[in-house]
Amino acid sequence: MPISLDRRSFLAGSAGLIALHPFSLQAASNQVHLRLMETTDLHVHVFPYDYYADKPRDTVGLARTASIVNDIRAEATNALLLDNGDFLQGNPMGDYIAYERGMREGDLHPVIDAMNTVGFDASTLGNHEFNYGLDFLMKSLAGAEFPVVCANIAKETGAAPRDDKTLLPPYVLMDRELTDGAGQKHAIKIGLIGFVPPQVMNWDRRHLEGNVQARDILQTARAYVPEMKEKGADIIIALSHSGIGEGQEREGMENASLVLAGVDGIDAIMTGHSHLVFPSSKYDGLDGIDVTKGTLQGKPATMGGYWGSHLGLIDLMLERDAGGWRVVGHASEARPISKRNEDRSITALVESDTKVLATVQQEHDETLAYVRRAVGKTDAPLHSYFALVADDPSVQIVSIAQSWYIAQMLKGTEFEGLPILSAAAPFKAGGRGGPEYFTDVPKGDVAIKNVSDLYLYPNTARAVLVSGAQVKDWLERSAGMFNQVDAGKADQLLLNPEFPSYNFDVMDGVSYQIDLSQPSKFNSKGALENPDANRIINLTFNGAPIDPEAKFIVATNNYRASGGGDFPGAKGDTIVFEGPDTNRDVIVRYIVEKGTISPRADANWSFAPLPDTSVLFDTGPKASDYVKDVQGVSISPAGEGPEGFARFRIDL
Ligand code: MN
Ligand code: MG
Repeated sequence: MPISLDRRSFLAGSAGLIALHPFSLQAASNQVHLRLMETTDLHVHVFPYDYYADKPRDTVGLARTASIVNDIRAEATNALLLDNGDFLQGNPMGDYIAYERGMREGDLHPVIDAMNTVGFDASTLGNHEFNYGLDFLMKSLAGAEFPVVCANIAKETGAAPRDDKTLLPPYVLMDRELTDGAGQKHAIKIGLIGFVPPQVMNWDRRHLEGNVQARDILQTARAYVPEMKEKGADIIIALSHSGIGEGQEREGMENASLVLAGVDGIDAIMTGHSHLVFPSSKYDGLDGIDVTKGTLQGKPATMGGYWGSHLGLIDLMLERDAGGWRVVGHASEARPISKRNEDRSITALVESDTKVLATVQQEHDETLAYVRRAVGKTDAPLHSYFALVADDPSVQIVSIAQSWYIAQMLKGTEFEGLPILSAAAPFKAGGRGGPEYFTDVPKGDVAIKNVSDLYLYPNTARAVLVSGAQVKDWLERSAGMFNQVDAGKADQLLLNPEFPSYNFDVMDGVSYQIDLSQPSKFNSKGALENPDANRIINLTFNGAPIDPEAKFIVATNNYRASGGGDFPGAKGDTIVFEGPDTNRDVIVRYIVEKGTISPRADANWSFAPLPDTSVLFDTGPKASDYVKDVQGVSISPAGEGPEGFARFRIDL
């Protein structure tokens, strides 16, 4: 029955998110409309809750995405719900199950439990599924009431991919009955094949080495897709836990979805891993990508964001002819669960599915208790009151955890053995955030929720390869934090208010002093202003002056490594390792593994002495409690600063 535009917009309006797709109404008697729904990179987010901040959050949660699924199921004749991997790890609920409760034989993992409740038809593995080891993974998957496929991870590899003994079934062929436009039912065989970045072998080496091997995504696809056809697959959908990267094929590519879409026999592709949305303007104008049609190399594709933020959708119009079923029309979109308003506030677009919430209510409550109780101890207070003027424990702990992680990740690579430096900046250090805006975790117990205080942003870990000369310029860039000081003058203002504290990278692994009498080499935006200026003096590595030609690894984050803050040596072209893990996860793992941490600042940097010179700076009033512990600098109270800040004096 044809539908009038009025009726359609009425339905779209009244049902909120249900924009009736013309496909479902247009299917003729030899055509079926099949709707594919995708979640990806859920990372254990079932409740709309941020466990680090310990508060509800409308931008995340499978319970919310499930409401869109429910709406679609009510509307679409034929629909499949697929998950694209990275469901088992990535928030404190995942850590709670892995580190505290454990997975015994027969235990149900809460995210699997929730996925069973929502009624997934199939899933694939993401790289993070391997984070807690193979035993944990297999016990978790045992509870899934849906098939989980992955073609390119093998327990034993044969001469060709088809000879491999894969860890999980490489693909499934699902026999479904789909209803055509005339209400007739048709048997159809839907093939689903899964892929994960082969880089898991490096990222989870300690769990995987000697146990499984990974294959190239594209070589694996070209081997199995014909086999699926031979076995009668009418249509084939790739569950590609891999980003939309280059169109140029490379051996072992991590983000292979664009090339994978072009593999003969694949009809539609679910993508993920990079936590982005497809179709979206993010991919506008790239070769082989059409964001209007929602295609990669002409094949319909989607990527449903991350943490349940979106439901990816692909509509396929399938038509039957002598040769079987083929795709004659398609559309893709990604439907959000929330929207950001102009004032940056968030409005939820859907309610939680209460059945899904009820499924994991107990584990949610247990996770809340877990994030609020101690998982480790610190034998020094972790605060940032003096992070801009002296080596500081709150930055030191981040720095230590980063080098610890990067050293593990570079094992077995060509970069193993190079000296590892670590760069970290105080994120919460007063400024425009106000006099309370500081990290302040007292000595004693450390809870998981404290980690968000130590590491504010959901950055991911990176390593860059730089020269000694670049290390120095990196620090020169950081030193733009300070105003130039006249030697011999008292009470000059120290901090440049134009310079954000997150660009004040402190580097561990080297020692140095900052000469405040010199002008800054770079301005507050990172532009070279005084090419001959040298604020960084006495820069040493292993007790000797740094060799400008020597090579160093710097552990940092994705923001800095890819050009954030425009730092020398960190403009995107020096990255040698892109970690799949957030810096925050790295800190949690470090604390859980070490039990007690000793993030004592080692005073590896300080201001160079300037006789008869003093500077003033403002920090939080609580700084008074800690002023006597600050190493490498002579600080005394100097009264009140503006707007509730406390003022201190440093005698240089
Ligand atoms: Mn992910
Ligand atoms: Mg240090």
